Amino acid sequence: MPLHIPNQCRICEQWHCTPVWLRRGRVDRAWCGPCEVAFTRAAARCIQCSLRTAPGIQRCAACSQSPPNWSLGAAAVDYAFPWSGLINAYKSQGDVGLGYGFAALMHSNPIISRLLRNADAWVGVPVSDRALSGRGFHQTADLITQLRHQLSLPPPEIRHALGRLGTNKAQKALGLHARADNLSGAFMVNASAIDGIKGRHLVLIDDVSTTGATLTAVTDVLLRAGAASVNTVVLARTPKPDG
Ligand SMILES: [Zn+2]
Ligand SMILES: [Zn+2]
Repeated sequence: MPLHIPNQCRICEQWHCTPVWLRRGRVDRAWCGPCEVAFTRAAARCIQCSLRTAPGIQRCAACSQSPPNWSLGAAAVDYAFPWSGLINAYKSQGDVGLGYGFAALMHSNPIISRLLRNADAWVGVPVSDRALSGRGFHQTADLITQLRHQLSLPPPEIRHALGRLGTNKAQKALGLHARADNLSGAFMVNASAIDGIKGRHLVLIDDVSTTGATLTAVTDVLLRAGAASVNTVVLARTPKPDG
């Protein structure tokens, strides 16, 4: 049974009385139902890079010309208002209670749900030691934990599949091509995970994809390690600068 308590929406700031499920000490969503509907309207997205496309267009022009190295990709929301502020609070300001609602946003998207359920196994993108020590919190690992609690009988997760060797510079400051160069050689498959990767159809999970450079670099090492295919799922995708 849910509790019914007054709750202030983190998006519209209206007070409303919604069922609040308590799971492992975490409150369900930090936003109201109408805001979730308004800001997650089904958007047509490219089936590979998950940038928005015109309705009816499956694959964007960039992916048609030069597709990414993963097979299918999906994002729950744009990394834009209101989600960018909430994700920032989750990742950088210790607002970890938001993770439950973010995971719910992900698997309530039918494309994401299908990719997650149909995979042989899940792999999370690792964070750098620098980011982890700064935040003390691994947001992608938390999202995966939340997704595993919320989905019944999820495929197995290959834990510690990847190591992160570190990059020369923080990705934030770099442009598209510089990001890709900065990440080349940044990831490695851990020897203990090779048997679980070989011949498997994997779904790679991350919190935010800005340019796709991280997903490309990780997909590359998974395919080199013998994965049969890699699909990608992210909570949020940064829109193109021109919208
Ligand atoms: Zn609201
Ligand atoms: Zn695309």
